[in-house]
Amino acid sequence: MSQHDLLMRHKAVMPKWLSLFYNEPISIVSGDGRYVVDADGNRYLDFFGGILTTMTGYSVPEVVDAIVDQAKKMIHTSTLYLIEPMIELAERIAKLSNIDDAKVFFTTSGSEANDAALLFATAFRSSNQILAVRNSYHGRSFSSLAVTANPGYAATNLSPFQVFYILGGSRIRGPLAGLSDSEYIKRGVADLEDLLSTATSGQVAALIAEPIQGVGGFSLAPDGYFGAIKEVLDRHGILYISDEVQTGWGRTGENFWGYESHGVAPDLITFAKGLGNGLAMAGIVGRSEVIDAIPGTSISTFGGTPLVARGALANLEYLLSNDLQANSAKVGAHMITRFLNETKAIDTVADVRGKGLMIGIELCEAGSVVPSPAIASLVLEEAKSRGLLVGKGGIAGNVLRIAPPLSITLEEADHGIDALVEAIAAASK
Ligand code: PMP
Repeated sequence: MSQHDLLMRHKAVMPKWLSLFYNEPISIVSGDGRYVVDADGNRYLDFFGGILTTMTGYSVPEVVDAIVDQAKKMIHTSTLYLIEPMIELAERIAKLSNIDDAKVFFTTSGSEANDAALLFATAFRSSNQILAVRNSYHGRSFSSLAVTANPGYAATNLSPFQVFYILGGSRIRGPLAGLSDSEYIKRGVADLEDLLSTATSGQVAALIAEPIQGVGGFSLAPDGYFGAIKEVLDRHGILYISDEVQTGWGRTGENFWGYESHGVAPDLITFAKGLGNGLAMAGIVGRSEVIDAIPGTSISTFGGTPLVARGALANLEYLLSNDLQANSAKVGAHMITRFLNETKAIDTVADVRGKGLMIGIELCEAGSVVPSPAIASLVLEEAKSRGLLVGKGGIAGNVLRIAPPLSITLEEADHGIDALVEAIAAASK
């Protein structure tokens, strides 16, 4: 079956809004380390890590062996029974969360984790008023979509919540362009105070925020922003939900969780993507009194099943014992420095930014800050023809997203940077 024929079958049976990369989408059939192979045998270095899911790498033997061993014993019965790997994983995550008296609830996707976090927060605070950040992305389920500001994903205007947006987004164009960090923070706090005194009922349940906006184009708030916002939240008893679906597990290098670099203490943390290394593993860790707040009983049929919990445990163990967070910091800093230096002379590169292995390159029309999604798409094609996969995102679809597995070596990173700089130059002609 050719890759083109597979595309025809895909189009016939899949929804038209399901995203696919590339003019000629590829069918990935295998992977090892930081590389994947398509159905025609072409090998690619993966700078997008399956949208940040492939945390430790493809086909890591320690992870695969744990999954195979568990699959032979028991894939799943039901969480109505005690599941040791699930309990052990929850214990480990509770400890890693830095939250006292933490409890954990497992789900199967980031969207569902955010749904549950919003449910816990609204129940705990007896309010369905939620604060979110402009340009945010929190998922594609009804609740997580309701707090998603990214217009590209606005599937509905209906909402289960009353949502109020605080400051966030680009500082290279628009109303926030050119603001210094302190001006940005001052404006954000003033806007929030204003919202709380004029628009909301005064009983707001929670703020949900990504420490670094992922789908929004690896967009960073200034240092100190969330700290200043949190002071206001604390005065009003408003909970803080840190959506760590992309930023967790050492992705940002300097810290294990993204929230730590903002110096804030979240009430709830949602996680997904990297923990399962591709298995459907996600959840919430947070203050027990908030998680325990919902009435009645509940269940998640597939949340934390033996197979995914064993796989996630092995993956987490691999991450910690190989100190991949330190690798993320080291290789990430090297990559950002090289991208900054080597794209200086390319006038379509409007911004290079990031933390650890979460690096964004913003592409605009030459010499301007007018977003160019066309150049970004072309870069993806040029990179692919050089054996490199990268992601893209941002509100206008003009930001290259670079987020390889946290196990990437300096040599592999250099190889990919060479290819990507060439690809950007070629696409910018
Ligand atoms: N939160 C963030 C920050 C995300 O980036 C995503 C997925 N891109 C989600 C939530 C939703 O996760 P999922 O696709 O697993 O539902």
